[in-house]
Amino acid sequence: MTSEDNNIPYMRVDNLKKFFHTKRGMLHAVDDVSFAIRKGETLGLVGESGCGKSTLGRCLIRLLDATSGRVILYDEKTGEGVDVTKVSKSAMKQLRRKVQIVFQDPYSCLNPRLSVWELIAEPLIVNGVFSDKNAMKRRIHELMSIVGLAERLENAYPHELDGGRRQRIGIARSLALNPEFIVLDEPVSALDVCIQAQILNLLNELQREFHYTYVFISHNLSVVKHVSDRIAVMYLGKIVELSDYRELFVKPMHPYTQALLSAIPVARLDVKKERIILEGDVPSPIEPPDGCRFMGRCRHCMEICKKETPELKEVFPNHFTACHLAELRGR
Ligand code: SF4
Repeated sequence: MTSEDNNIPYMRVDNLKKFFHTKRGMLHAVDDVSFAIRKGETLGLVGESGCGKSTLGRCLIRLLDATSGRVILYDEKTGEGVDVTKVSKSAMKQLRRKVQIVFQDPYSCLNPRLSVWELIAEPLIVNGVFSDKNAMKRRIHELMSIVGLAERLENAYPHELDGGRRQRIGIARSLALNPEFIVLDEPVSALDVCIQAQILNLLNELQREFHYTYVFISHNLSVVKHVSDRIAVMYLGKIVELSDYRELFVKPMHPYTQALLSAIPVARLDVKKERIILEGDVPSPIEPPDGCRFMGRCRHCMEICKKETPELKEVFPNHFTACHLAELRGR
């Protein structure tokens, strides 16, 4: 029993695994991950490139089929849950309206042959939302206005627009079917800094207005901090720490989180910060051995870390970490 079990969440992920067959063995992209997402929150998912965060995001909305485990989506009114990993294709088509994704690269995720109008109309047409052309036109203009795209751009093609506007098209497409839950997969990492701020502000405003639940995936802790209510840190297919964003920054428990935070530059000359340099290589996610996956790079590694894989446990109220040392300190 944990503090999180007291309320019905919006989504509950239980022991989710996603493995890929490779020539060298089984690649453990997501390995036994469990957590819950609350209605209307933004859960930040952060970690180095290749840690499995995007794979996890895609499994949550079944763009990828999980190897095992459950992703339960709860109905707010009835409290009943449906397992996204098990529903039929036709049921998933209905669910697809509720769960959407915004991809990382606005340059490659849009069909260059389609105009802004056609790109935003596509999800509406595929799902047969409107039979009346005028109603669809009104909805497309409404979506363009919501994401801050001028109507005069409706006949423009993606190559004629800057990165920020292209990402706004991606966001408009994801909002077209009135979703509840959106996976934002590195939505600003391909954009320059001032455009990043505009898109982050837009996402925050949309959440305030329409009460979306977000999973915000990024390799950049500073970006995640500005949008998240809670942050989950991933390392080599596992969640190693999960807590409220303030507590994570003030009291990080896992040595990997501590190292990530120490790498964030401070703008003040009078503040000195100890940088934790991680030594050793990231181990291969193919057939990883037992024990802590971080042990080869951890300066606190103990004997137990080499034998027993630490589980994600609630060390302080609503602060979870997967580390033998943190568990000892939290007792
Ligand atoms: Fe380091 Fe051990 Fe904690 Fe892993 S379990 S992070 S090796 S102290």
